[in-house]
Amino acid sequence: MTDTKPIIVWFRQDLRVADNPALAAAVASGHPVLPVYILDAEAPGDWKPGAAARWWLHHSLAALADALEKRGAPLVLRQGSAGELLSRVVEETGARAVYWNRCYEPYAIQRDTEIKQSLREAGCEVKSFNASLLFEPWTIETKQGGFYKVYTRFWHACRDKGDPEVPVPAPDRIIAADGDIASDALDDWGLRPSQPDWAGGLCDRWTPGEEGAMARLRQFLEDGLDAYKDRRDFPADAVTSNLSPFLHIGDIGPRQVWHETVKTAGWSAATEKFLKEVVWREFAYHVSYHLPNLPEEPMYARFKAFPWSDDDAMLKCWQQGMTGYPMVDAGMRELWQTGHMHNRVRMVSASFLVKHLLLPWQAGEAWFWDTLVDADLAVNAFSWQWVAGCGADAAPYFRIFNPIMQGSKFDPDGYYVRTYVPEIAKLPNKYLFAPWEAPDDVLKEAGIELGKTYPKPVVDHKKARERALDAFKSLPDNVDA
Ligand SMILES: Cc1cc2nc3c(=O)[nH]c(=O)nc-3n(C[C@H](O)[C@H](O)[C@H](O)COP(=O)(O)OP(=O)(O)OC[C@H]3O[C@@H](n4cnc5c(N)ncnc54)[C@H](O)[C@@H]3O)c2cc1C
Repeated sequence: MTDTKPIIVWFRQDLRVADNPALAAAVASGHPVLPVYILDAEAPGDWKPGAAARWWLHHSLAALADALEKRGAPLVLRQGSAGELLSRVVEETGARAVYWNRCYEPYAIQRDTEIKQSLREAGCEVKSFNASLLFEPWTIETKQGGFYKVYTRFWHACRDKGDPEVPVPAPDRIIAADGDIASDALDDWGLRPSQPDWAGGLCDRWTPGEEGAMARLRQFLEDGLDAYKDRRDFPADAVTSNLSPFLHIGDIGPRQVWHETVKTAGWSAATEKFLKEVVWREFAYHVSYHLPNLPEEPMYARFKAFPWSDDDAMLKCWQQGMTGYPMVDAGMRELWQTGHMHNRVRMVSASFLVKHLLLPWQAGEAWFWDTLVDADLAVNAFSWQWVAGCGADAAPYFRIFNPIMQGSKFDPDGYYVRTYVPEIAKLPNKYLFAPWEAPDDVLKEAGIELGKTYPKPVVDHKKARERALDAFKSLPDNVDA
C-alpha cells in the first residue's frame, strides 16, 4: 500500500516553483506534497510587511497558487502563528515531514528554530534548504573565522567559492495530498489597499510573481545589461534590472539571476558589474546575519550618541517630497507613486534625511519599510547604516551628498525630476535642481511661485552641511570595538 502521508512544503520568501530546493526535495521523495503559506501575524513584531510589500505579496501568492494548481497541488493558506498552524496542519493531515527554505531575519531564525524543535519532538521530520542566497552567510568567513565588514573582500571570498549552485528546475507535476484541506481565501486577507486604493501606480509598473520575474530578468539582459555599467546611476535611463522586489519575496532567486545572466551574456565587464550588485545584497545578508540588531542599532557604537533631531514637520516634508530640493523630492515621490526608487536617488534622499535634516536613519528606514515594494529587513537596514556612515563599508560621514550637484550630474537633462516634480517642469535645466536661484522673471515664466506652487528649500545646503559636520565631530572617539 502506498504511504499517503504528505510532506508539507512551507512557502515563505521563496514564492516560486523553479529553483525551489524544498519543493524539489519533497516532490523527489515520491510522497504527496502539501504546499502551505502562513501569514504569520506575530513573529515579525515591529517588522510586519509594510503596505507596499503586502500589495506585492498578494499578487505573488496569487501567481504561486496558479503555478501549484496547474501542477496538481493547490496552495493552502492560513493566517496566525506559524508554529501553532503548522502543528495543526500536521495533525489534520498526518504529515510525515515539513520542508522549507530558510529565512534570515532574526525573528525568523528564532521562530524557525523553535518550530523545528517542536515538530521533531512530535515525530515529524524537518528539513530546511537555501533558496534566497548565493551562499549561506555562515559559510563565508575571514581567515580569522569572523565575518566580512568590507565589501571588496567579501566579493573575492564569494568568487573563491566558485559558481553558486545551479538552480533546480520546476517540477512538471506534484502529487497532491489526499482530502479536503481547509484554506483561507487570499482576497479575505486584505493585503491590497481598499480605502483609498493607492496601488494604481504599482499595478501600472509591476507584474509580481515568478513569470513576471523571469520576464523582467530576460528583458533586462536584452535591453539593460550592456548599458548597466556606465548608466546605472542615471535614473532617467532606467537601465537597472528592477529585480529587487522579486528577489525579496523570492519570485526569483539570486542563483537563477546569476546563472541566467552568465548563460545569456557570458562573463563580460557588464556581467561582472551587475553580479557585483547582486553580491551587495548578499553582503547585506551576511552582515545582518552576524549583527541581528542591525535594523535598530548602529553597527559602530559611537553613533548611538549622535545628536539626532526629532523634528516631525521636517520628517513629513521629506516623506511627502516637499523639501524644496527637486532631486530629493523626485525620489520621494517616485517611491510613493511606484513603490520603488532608483538606487542613486535612494542614496541622495537618504543622505538628505540623515545629514541635511539630522533626522535619525531609523526614521527613514521605517518609511522605506512601509513604502518600498522591495522592503527587505537586511538590505534596508544595511543600506541606511551605509548612508548614515555607521554601517559596514559605509561612506565616511563627512562625505555629504550635495543634492543640487547630484541632480545636475545624474539627471543632466532633468527628465527624471520633471517626471516626478511636474510643477517645476518648465524651469530651464540651469535652475532645475535649485529653483530658489532662478531670477523672478524665470520663475514667473515657468509658472512657479516659490513657497506656494513648490516649497522653498527647508534648509540651506551649506549651513546644513556645517551643522552635520559639527554633529559628527561631537561624537565620542574610541568606543567602537
Ligand atoms: C537607503 C537605502 C535603502 C535601501 N533599501 C533597500 C531595500 O529595502 N531592499 C532592497 O532590495 N534594496 C534596497 N536598497 C538597495 C538598492 O537601492 C536596491 O536594491 C536597488 O535600487 C534595486 O533596484 P534594481 O533591482 O533595479 O537594482 P540593480 O541595479 O538592477 O541590481 C540588481 C540587484 O542587486 C541588488 N542590489 C543592487 N544595488 C544594491 C545595493 N546598493 N545594496 C544591496 N543590494 C543591491 C538588488 O537585489 C538588485 O535587485 C536600498 C538602498 C538605499 C541607499
